[in-house]
Amino acid sequence: MQPENVKPESSFIHLCQPDSCKSCGACCGLYNYADSSRESLLHRLRWRTALFPEIVKSPDDLDHFSSLVRSSEEQARRYEVIYCCEYLGFLDAGEKRVGCLLHPLQNNGTDLRDVSFYGRELCDGHFCPSYTYLTREEKQALVFVLEDWYLYGLCITDIDLVKSYFRLVSDRLLTTPRPEKLKAEPLRNLVQKFFELKLVWPYRDPAVNRLGKYYFDGSQYMIDRIDYEGLGWKKSRFDSIFLSLSSRFPRREDLVTAEQILQGHIDAFVEAYSAHL
Ligand code: SF4
Ligand code: SF4
Repeated sequence: MQPENVKPESSFIHLCQPDSCKSCGACCGLYNYADSSRESLLHRLRWRTALFPEIVKSPDDLDHFSSLVRSSEEQARRYEVIYCCEYLGFLDAGEKRVGCLLHPLQNNGTDLRDVSFYGRELCDGHFCPSYTYLTREEKQALVFVLEDWYLYGLCITDIDLVKSYFRLVSDRLLTTPRPEKLKAEPLRNLVQKFFELKLVWPYRDPAVNRLGKYYFDGSQYMIDRIDYEGLGWKKSRFDSIFLSLSSRFPRREDLVTAEQILQGHIDAFVEAYSAHL
C-alpha cells in the first residue's frame, strides 16, 4: 500500500514506492484477479486511472466510481478472502507506478482513503512481511535491478524466492553480493533474468488458483508440495524456488531440466560476480 508518511530513518527502503520506475500494489489485491496477466491488469488500471478524474469531482462521487468499476470489470478472484481494491490505478502518465488513486498525493493533499474497503488507517499503515524479513541487501538488490511494476510486485513480495536466490549465490561466493555492484552490467541483467523466471518459467502450473507457493480453495489457502517421490527423485536443492515459481513437473526429465536451468542462472551470476570482484 502507500503510506502517507514513510518512516524517517535514512536506512528505510520504501518497498511500495521505491523510485520513479516502478512500485508495488500487491496488498491492494493486484494479483488476486483470476486473470492477473499483465495485459489484463494494464487494461484495468489504465481504464480506472482515466475514469477517476472524470467521475470524481468531490468525495461524494467516490461511491459512483466504485460501483462503476466493480460492475464493469470482471470480479472473479483467485482467493476470495483477499479483496481486490477498485481504487488501485496508475500514479503517473507513463504507467510505471501503480498506486492508490485515493492517496493525498493524488488529490491535492486530501486523503480520500476513508471510503476504502480496508479503511484509511490500514491502507496508510500497512507494511507487508517483506519489510521485516528481507535484508537491506535483498531489498536494495531488487530495487536496483527490477524496473517493471508487474514483475517488481510479484518478486518483492516473494520472500522465499528472493532469499533462496541470494542464499544460493552467497553460499558459492562465500559472501553476500554487494547491491551497489548489481547496478552494473552484466550483473544487473543476470539477476533480472533470474527474477524474470516468474514470467517465463516453462513449468509453471497454469491453474488460476495458484500464486507462488500457494494454492487456494475457496476461503482456504495451502502451500503446495512437489511429489519428488512420485517422480522417483530426491527433494531438490531448488525446492523453495520451484514452489515460488508454482512449478508442476509431469515427468522426472522435466524436473532434471528445471534444476539445470536454475543451476545455470546461479553459475552465470557467480562467475560474473567473481570476475568483477
Ligand atoms: S505488498 Fe508490501 S511492498 Fe507491496 S504495496 Fe503492499 S506493503 Fe507495499
Ligand atoms: S484504498 Fe485500495 S488502492 Fe488505496 S491503499 Fe487502500 S487498498 Fe490500496
